[in-house]
Amino acid sequence: GPDIPESHPRYESLLTRHRIEEGVDLGITSRQGLIAQGRGEAFDYLLGEETIPSADDAARAAAAHLLSADQPVLSVNGNVAALAPGEMVALAAATGADIEVNLFNRTEARMERIADHLREHGAEEVKGLNADGRIPGLDHERATVDADGIGSADVVLVPLEDGDRAAALAEMGKTELVIDLNPMSRSAQSAAVPIVDNLIRAVPNMTAHAEALAGEDASTLENIIDDFDADAALSAAEERIRDI
Ligand code: ATP
Ligand code: MG
Repeated sequence: GPDIPESHPRYESLLTRHRIEEGVDLGITSRQGLIAQGRGEAFDYLLGEETIPSADDAARAAAAHLLSADQPVLSVNGNVAALAPGEMVALAAATGADIEVNLFNRTEARMERIADHLREHGAEEVKGLNADGRIPGLDHERATVDADGIGSADVVLVPLEDGDRAAALAEMGKTELVIDLNPMSRSAQSAAVPIVDNLIRAVPNMTAHAEALAGEDASTLENIIDDFDADAALSAAEERIRDI
C-alpha cells in the first residue's frame, strides 16, 4: 500500500489519490480520470472535505428513489471502480439495483477489467458488456449501454458522469441521481437528485440511508422524494463554497 502516515493532515485525500493512481496502473482508470480526480479534489477542499447537510438530504432522497424504483441501475466508470468498488456493490445489495459498467472512453479491455474488479469486490452480475442498447442523441461510442440495464432502467445513479451523457440520460426520461463535487457542472445541474459530495463519502452514506429506509412503505418514500429540492441543494453547495 501507500506509505502515507495516518497522522498526515491530508491522509484521506492522499489515500484517494493513490487509489486513482493504482486504478490507472491496473488499467481500469483512464488517464483522463486523473484530471477528473484533480477537479474533484479542488471542490472537495472548498466544501471542507465533509458531507454538508444538503448533500446528506440528497443522499437520503437518492436512496428513497433507488428503493422505490422498478429497475434501478448503478453506473460504474473507471474512477468509481478505482475509488469505491466494494461500496458500490454494498449499495447495489442494499437497494436491489443492478450494476453496469459504463465508460466515456469505452474499450473492451477496460470494460472487462472493471467487470472483473467489481466481481473481485463481491459483485455477482455486472452489466455493460452486451452493448445492445443506445442512448439517443449521442455518438456511437458514448451512446452504448445494455438494453436490459441502463437502456430500460427507470432510475440511474451516475456518479462522476460527463455532462453531455447526463443530459442525454435525463432526456430519455430517466430519473437521474448524480454524485458530483462540482455543483456548477452540467451533470449536477441535469440531475433529479444532485449529491454534491465526494463519491467515497456519498456511496456509503446512501447505503446507510437505504438500510434505514428499507422497512418504510411506498408513501413514506414518496414523501422523502417529493420533499427534496434539487435547485436548493445546488444553491446550498454553492453557498458553502463561496462562504468558506
Ligand atoms: P460537465 O460540466 O459537462 O459536467 P465536467 O467538467 O464536470 O463536465 P469532468 O471534468 O469530466 O467534466 O468531470 C469530472 C467531474 O467529476 C467534476 O465535476 C469533478 O468535480 C467530479 N469528481 C471528480 N472526482 C470526484 C469524486 N471523488 N467524488 C465526486 N465527484 C468527483
Ligand atoms: Mg461534470
